[in-house]
Amino acid sequence: MNTDRRAFFKNIAAAAATLTVLPTAALAREKKTAPSDAVGMLYDTTKCIGCKACVVACKEANHMPADTDGYGHGLYDSPDSLNQYTKNIIQLYKDGNEQSFAKKQCMHCIDPACVGACMLGALQKGKFGVVSYDVSKCVGCRYCETVCPFNVPKFEWAKAAPKIVKCEFCKERLAEGKQPACTEVCPRKAVIFGKYTDLLDEAHLRLENNPGKYVNKVYGERELGGTQVLYLSHIDFEKIGFRFKQDESVPHLQQTVSHGIYKGFVGPIALYGLLGAVLFRNRGNSEKES
Ligand code: SF4
Ligand code: SF4
Ligand code: SF4
Repeated sequence: MNTDRRAFFKNIAAAAATLTVLPTAALAREKKTAPSDAVGMLYDTTKCIGCKACVVACKEANHMPADTDGYGHGLYDSPDSLNQYTKNIIQLYKDGNEQSFAKKQCMHCIDPACVGACMLGALQKGKFGVVSYDVSKCVGCRYCETVCPFNVPKFEWAKAAPKIVKCEFCKERLAEGKQPACTEVCPRKAVIFGKYTDLLDEAHLRLENNPGKYVNKVYGERELGGTQVLYLSHIDFEKIGFRFKQDESVPHLQQTVSHGIYKGFVGPIALYGLLGAVLFRNRGNSEKES
């Protein structure tokens, strides 16, 4: 661990020591729910063949340049992670005979950390529950990058007038009555689009009708306050990159920690672990990308 990172954790510990314990009832934060018009995506690892048609369609729909930094030595558009050129990615997990693809893009959180962190309102949760971005309000502070538990927003380091890059659920297509480009092209219907509540029902139906086929959980139903992008998986969610299991959203945890509503700091210490993990990992990734 380098000196900067040691200092980072020391700062978290120092902040913990300054908290005041206040009555829970006065400060509890209400859990947010998906808006009534919320749309979503349901991705099913058992159906995905890793063809990356969704990655290509996303690039086309968003007029994104090729990313030739990854595999292929500059010859192919071959992103291996979300980045300033890539809003949607298919990753591969493989360990012996165990294998899975995993689609990654913005999760359109029900209580988004990025929206809570952006003091200027450049990120907003709007129509259909889509978390969208307004470059005219953005000053490039990159707080959104730091707090996102899914490590989604990316800063355009290579540009003179950089902006934040992230999936906005093809909001222009939605406004025209179309579905997102990625769900439209998927040949296996491994990722489908629909009303959020219908997708939740569909996910539970698949679990019920296929005992033993999936891990018995719809990822995103509860995790981190819930997300409008939902996942079914045949292997542990942690293995395909979903390491956070807490029900509470990051803004909820931040408020809880800052108000110190737990007696004896037992709660806050656990919560610092999560917040620290989010910040530490994203900071590490930003250092690599910059
Ligand atoms: S996944 Fe990250 S960028 Fe997307 S809404 Fe959630 S906090 Fe914001
Ligand atoms: S919704 Fe649109 S921007 Fe988001 S991943 Fe799919 S194609 Fe890309
Ligand atoms: S288009 Fe569908 S099957 Fe192909 S990689 Fe994307 S989600 Fe998987």
